[in-house]
Amino acid sequence: MTNVTLIPGDGIGPEVADAVMRIIDASGSNINWDIVNAGADVYTKTGELVPDEVYKSIETNKIALKGPITTPVGSGFRSINVMLRKKYDLYSNIRPVQTLPGLSTPFQDIDLVIFRENTEGLYIGIEAEKENGVMEAKKIITPKGSERIIRKAFEYAKSKNRKSVAVVHKANILKLADGLFLETGRKVAKEYPDITMKEVIVDNMCMQLVMNPLQYDVIVTMNLYGDILSDLCAGLVGGLGLVPGANIGNDLAIFEAVHGSAPDIAGQNKANPIALLRSGCMMLDYLNKDHEANRIRAAIGTVLDDGKVLTPDMGGTSSTTDLTNAIIDALIRTN
Ligand code: NAD
Repeated sequence: MTNVTLIPGDGIGPEVADAVMRIIDASGSNINWDIVNAGADVYTKTGELVPDEVYKSIETNKIALKGPITTPVGSGFRSINVMLRKKYDLYSNIRPVQTLPGLSTPFQDIDLVIFRENTEGLYIGIEAEKENGVMEAKKIITPKGSERIIRKAFEYAKSKNRKSVAVVHKANILKLADGLFLETGRKVAKEYPDITMKEVIVDNMCMQLVMNPLQYDVIVTMNLYGDILSDLCAGLVGGLGLVPGANIGNDLAIFEAVHGSAPDIAGQNKANPIALLRSGCMMLDYLNKDHEANRIRAAIGTVLDDGKVLTPDMGGTSSTTDLTNAIIDALIRTN
């Protein structure tokens, strides 16, 4: 058995986490779930946002699957998601965006992977109130932070025979901070002569992705741009209910979907568990359980292709439970 920390999180988190545990268990992956929780709901009940047992479990198991955690807008506590990524130096946020079978989307055959720098940029959360009500937010870009994420993107491209890496920036305006990121991209790219480096300004990137996403392959960018481009790309392939993610450091990893706690549909058995499930598949790959991961991916494909059991975000009327059962049935049929 492999021990994995499971953090259900807030909003739709517990519903999708439960679905994912059931499906991964049905795949015979031999995971022993160490269930601990953090977030706004835990805070309401216990007065603590992240109880000590959460840190202990993550540090012992070195691997976690995490549901979304609510962060209040404008005031209140800072993001626990961002804090965990920073605390464990999970600098690579990897978000594969692919067209899935059976779904009606504007483009077919999208197959992009976003590498988002996960520990610096504007997400360091250093803000201050200056004179006259002026607010300041700091953006930190370092040579080390830039190089390690850009290198990860190029290494990934090389290992998967990908043709290009797009380095996304706003160095025309932020000449020093984004300039450093772009310069680092140019330097690292020289070590990978078989991979084309594309330099794309972030606003143009948004337009290009909406007009012709097929021209991109691997994308690497800073924290905030990566966050925004991930949701944009999720919209290209059917929405946030589908897109997975991984936060990977040197010796620890936390897998989580791109989506948040979706308070608008929480507790209604409507949420799509596929994004967290596909994050779970990335986790199984990381654990060298690719066989089980691929079986689950095939079962998702079968159910979507069939098109009969779809949650409302995919145009259907089925519940989270119906979709979970359908994926488990498809898994069992391929035994
Ligand atoms: P969101 O991703 O929660 O929801 C955006 C829209 O997508 C909503 O309409 C929602 O219903 C839909 N959606 C999201 N996931 C879905 C799923 N699995 N199935 C079906 N529909 C789904 O984004 P938001 O509303 O901007 O944020 C809500 C909360 O989540 C905020 O507190 C935010 O800070 C937090 N958040 C957390 C994470 C994380 O834990 N990693 C990430 C993003 C946002």
